[in-house]
Amino acid sequence: MKFTMQKPISCPFQKLFPSQLEKDDLFFMQLAYNEAINAWNADEVPVGAVIARGDEVIASSFNQTRRQTDPSAHAEMIAITMAAKSVGDWRLNECRLYVTKEPCPMCSGATVMARLGEVHYAVEDPKMGGLGGAASLHTLPFSNHKPKVFRKTMELECKEMLQAFFQLQRK
Ligand SMILES: [Zn+2]
Repeated sequence: MKFTMQKPISCPFQKLFPSQLEKDDLFFMQLAYNEAINAWNADEVPVGAVIARGDEVIASSFNQTRRQTDPSAHAEMIAITMAAKSVGDWRLNECRLYVTKEPCPMCSGATVMARLGEVHYAVEDPKMGGLGGAASLHTLPFSNHKPKVFRKTMELECKEMLQAFFQLQRK
């Protein structure tokens, strides 16, 4: 196996500055998009996550598996831990997770375990998505919590970023 050390290429996409006047799903997904840019600039797979409660952002993070050498350090896992600390309760029924890519089975499981009220994701992942893409952990028949799942807010923008990142990685 050959190892090559390369300087990471900084993210060619620009951060967004959504208006604070309308805190809708697009607003929060734009913040998650900005976190995905932070991930890219840290040489991580560009996935960002934000958790909101009402109008307030209570957690915001990006993928950190490489820098933490931790396969569980996905953006959603870090955000869920932050949100539970912020709320002071492991149950996050009143909260909404916004994430730029469909959560993997681990993170999808965490959204159920955390009793998250809603999960919004931008890009579906037919290979590893756990909320409809490859598996459906939010609809397990005997589960006592089923997060509401919403798709496709900022799908094109988030997909473009992921594709650009993986294209560079292949070079
Ligand atoms: Zn994950």
